[in-house]
Amino acid sequence: MALVDVIEEELIESASLYAPSQTIAELIDSRLQEIPDKDLREWVNFVLTTGFEADLACSASDISVINYTGDAGYQGGDDCIIDGYSAMLNLLAKGGQIHCNSVVSEIVQTPTEITVRCTNGHIEHGSHVLLSVPLGVLKAGSITFSPALSTQKRFAIERLGFGAFEKLIFQFENAFWRTVDNDVSGILIKGHPVFPYWLDVSASSGRPTLAAHVSGPQALALAKLDDDVAFDMAMSALSSACGGVPTVPVEWHRTNWVTDPFSRGAYTHLPPSISLQEIHNLSQPEGRLLFAGEATSTERFGYVDGAYVSGLREARRLTGGRPVKISISA
Ligand SMILES: Cc1cc2nc3c(=O)[nH]c(=O)nc-3n(C[C@H](O)[C@H](O)[C@H](O)COP(=O)(O)OP(=O)(O)OC[C@H]3O[C@@H](n4cnc5c(N)ncnc54)[C@H](O)[C@@H]3O)c2cc1C
Repeated sequence: MALVDVIEEELIESASLYAPSQTIAELIDSRLQEIPDKDLREWVNFVLTTGFEADLACSASDISVINYTGDAGYQGGDDCIIDGYSAMLNLLAKGGQIHCNSVVSEIVQTPTEITVRCTNGHIEHGSHVLLSVPLGVLKAGSITFSPALSTQKRFAIERLGFGAFEKLIFQFENAFWRTVDNDVSGILIKGHPVFPYWLDVSASSGRPTLAAHVSGPQALALAKLDDDVAFDMAMSALSSACGGVPTVPVEWHRTNWVTDPFSRGAYTHLPPSISLQEIHNLSQPEGRLLFAGEATSTERFGYVDGAYVSGLREARRLTGGRPVKISISA
């Protein structure tokens, strides 16, 4: 096992022993003192920090160490949904009525009903509403609530962290980054201010493809760059990392989750001194208004399965605790 993997495993195992105010950056730092060689120390610091920041979508100095468990309890490797999550959503939504392009702007509840108003004039009335907009949207205050959300709920929205994580995907004619004696799955560019971490995703895309993973502080820096500047910076970083070869993609795409008004960031994390209690508080109903989504999952905030299970949790709440079963047929 590589040194970095050993340290990462030890960090995760010992995370619960630390004070809630301690950050992942402090934890990494404490372990680095044991490495006498300066170059190796810097490299291990870079790899660990980049890995944690890519996983948690924020700066290693903004993450509380105490609740970090990585993927503990999960087995197997990573999987990629080739056709994207809409395939899964379409199956789940079968038979239901979906109003696309309806932006919720106001939720008003009375003792007898709850009403949702959309910017396009669409209005829905019902007995309950299950709200699953991202934490970033709640933080931005894009939806007005009447009556106003409780102080406890507003504190949770404010205190929980919602990070930044973008991807720039580049497809090429050939995988020039691979040579006969290397079969790289990714490229790390130490010290690059925006594009330190690239993954080879050719297997899932079916064509030679690299994805630059840009998270935390780098993603916030990226959000300020125009497309052409971001493109030039990424290609120049890649070219230098590959010995100066010209890098001309056939196609490229950039995500903009930070500026997207329907996400306003990537996913939830616990900043220093903030506990899981805030996530629990966010998940609590307010009258006829219920809350779901990854930010409400104490077990798996930040992940798709956390969002999915939070929906089941709220469905059970609505049905008075009866088991909820979802069957999907293609
Ligand atoms: C770059 C990146 C990589 C990721 N990688 C992984 C991964 O590998 N594995 C993993 O498990 N998770 C990953 N995640 C996290 C995962 O995407 C989220 O945890 C998951 O999508 C959360 O689901 P959700 O239903 O809570 O919210 P979302 O999927 O964000 O859904 C919220 C919905 O609310 C809609 N909405 C927002 N505002 C309004 C409004 N005012 N009116 C109406 N609709 C509104 C949005 O359009 C959106 O459709 C990644 C996230 C990012 C950004």
